[in-house]
Amino acid sequence: MLYRKGQLIGWGDSDVKDLIDAANAAVINEETKTRKLTYDEYFKIIIHDWFEIFVNEGITEKAIKHLNQRIQHVRFHHVLKYSENGLPYWRYIADSNSMMSDPELQSAYGITHLLSTGALKNLKRCGLDDCRKFFIGRSNVRWCSKSCGSLFRVRQKRKRDRD
Ligand SMILES: [Zn+2]
Repeated sequence: MLYRKGQLIGWGDSDVKDLIDAANAAVINEETKTRKLTYDEYFKIIIHDWFEIFVNEGITEKAIKHLNQRIQHVRFHHVLKYSENGLPYWRYIADSNSMMSDPELQSAYGITHLLSTGALKNLKRCGLDDCRKFFIGRSNVRWCSKSCGSLFRVRQKRKRDRD
């Protein structure tokens, strides 16, 4: 996610998928802890860490404060957007010049947008120990996919059969 100079950056609901993919693709291990990371690697790890906080602690006042501190230097443009239903609407769009090559800032900007649209309301983590992927799901859903759910049930059954 690198932006050209002078580009205006807006986020929509569909971006939640991109950020979830980024968080799930984050590589956090001994090797990435000790060497210099690329922009992309760093970006993914930051998103991952934020999502982990939201899943574990919820969207707290502390987290919001922290996000606001990160984005305080982003400059915004107030833009009138075209809408197909005939009702144009206002939107704040960030100026990419103010956050060029800063993954901390750029990830915070993306997350604040998704929080404000409610797109992260049902953010969850897969209940299967060796999956643990982030996903958006209804309150009763515990696994990121059908296959994780059935694998979990198979393991539960095996455990019961052993005991
Ligand atoms: Zn899963």
